[in-house]
This record gives sequence, C-alpha cells and structure tokens, in this order.
Amino acid sequence: MLRQFIRATLLLAAAAMLQSFTLVIDAGHGGKDPGALGRRGKEKNINLAVALAVGRLVEENLEDVKVIYTRQKDVFVELDERARIANRAKADLFVSIHTNALPGRAQGRGSETYTLGMHRAADNLAVAKRENSVITLERDYQTRYEGFDPRSSESYIIFELMQDVNMEQSVRLASLVQKQFRSAGRPDKGVHQAGFLVLRATSMPSCLIELGYITTPAEENYLLSDRGVSELAQAIYQAIRKYKN
Ligand SMILES: [Zn+2]
Repeated sequence: MLRQFIRATLLLAAAAMLQSFTLVIDAGHGGKDPGALGRRGKEKNINLAVALAVGRLVEENLEDVKVIYTRQKDVFVELDERARIANRAKADLFVSIHTNALPGRAQGRGSETYTLGMHRAADNLAVAKRENSVITLERDYQTRYEGFDPRSSESYIIFELMQDVNMEQSVRLASLVQKQFRSAGRPDKGVHQAGFLVLRATSMPSCLIELGYITTPAEENYLLSDRGVSELAQAIYQAIRKYKN
C-alpha cells in the first residue's frame, strides 16, 4: 500500500514538473457584463463555453501544459485582473476569447484574431472600443486605467507609441488560429492589430479571438450550437498545439 502511495505521489510530482508550459485561457466578459447581445444568446456564455472546451482539449491531450482560466463560471472579472492572473502565473501564452457584434442591421460572418497594436482601420478600432468599454463597469476605472477613456479615439494614440516585445510570437499564434478556423470552414476575417487593454497589460505572447458575429442570426445559431462550440474550440486547440511545438 505504502509503495503504491509513494509511486502515485512520485508520478504526480513528475507530471507537475513536466508541465513546463502555462496557458491562460480568458473567457471574455461575465457576471454583470454580458458582452455583446444576440437575439437569443449572450457573448459571455459563448466565450465561456468555447474557453472551457479549449481547456478540456488541452488538458486531455497536452500533458505538459498547465491550463489556468481567468474565469470558469459566470462571474465578473476586471480587465486588469485578467492580465494579472496571467502575469502572476508567469504564463507562456494568453488567449482571450470573445464574440463580435455589428451595429444596426449590418451582417458579418467569420472569425478574426487580434494582437496588440495600433489599428490601421476604423473597423478594428471599433472592436477594441467595444471590448475595452467593459472597464466602465469597474470601480475607479479612471484611476486604475490612468484616465484611459475606452470610447474616445484619442485615448488609443498610446498604442501607437507602444513597443510590444512579444509582437512576433503573438502574430504567429494569431496566424495559426486563423489557419485552423479556415480549415474548419469558417470565413477568414484575418489577423489584425488594435489597442486592447487586456492584451496591453499581459507580459507574454497573447491574442484576442473574435469567434463570430452574435448579431448575425446564422452566425448566432452556429455560435450557440454544440457543433459550433466544438469546431471553434478544436481549431483554437490545434493552433495552440502547433504554436507550442
Ligand atoms: Zn467581448
């Protein structure tokens, strides 16, 4: 009995030592912040379903990867806290999962992946503005984010001056994600740069994925389906696996 116990303990210790790569999976929004709204679904729930499915695939298939979630249920987590979780864990990779939306009757289809940087197109700025605006639900956000106004275009000038040492690896990861989405039959909306606060505060390669358009009915149906969640999670998992190798 004792020998078995010691053996089991040693195996567990060995497995822990082998976990040389730490992945943080960030399901965007949560709790009082629903994110973008569709006709039936809420962004926060789609993000969480895909994030948990990605984590399960990694845990089942990549023994040497330790998975940390910024949230595993429907709770509100501040943007800078999400980044702190990754920094504290000295993570090797940070993947933030979101769902896109368009104003009015505009229709959109497909998936896109962002890395941190200065937007080159108004569309990209619009996505960053929408995703960053969640800080207005946080306490003292003006102090905590040093006067950053997520809705004012002027605030985004800081991203122009910023040097991102992880840029190259982040773009490589983002390109792998888009390649996998293409293989899964998703319309490829490309790799872009924009000023996302959650990416700015992380100190490792990172990207922010927009899975699809919750405001376009056919897309919303896909995002809410088991098939959609599973295909999107598979694609993200494959990209992480390839990035790591
Ligand atoms: Zn979002």
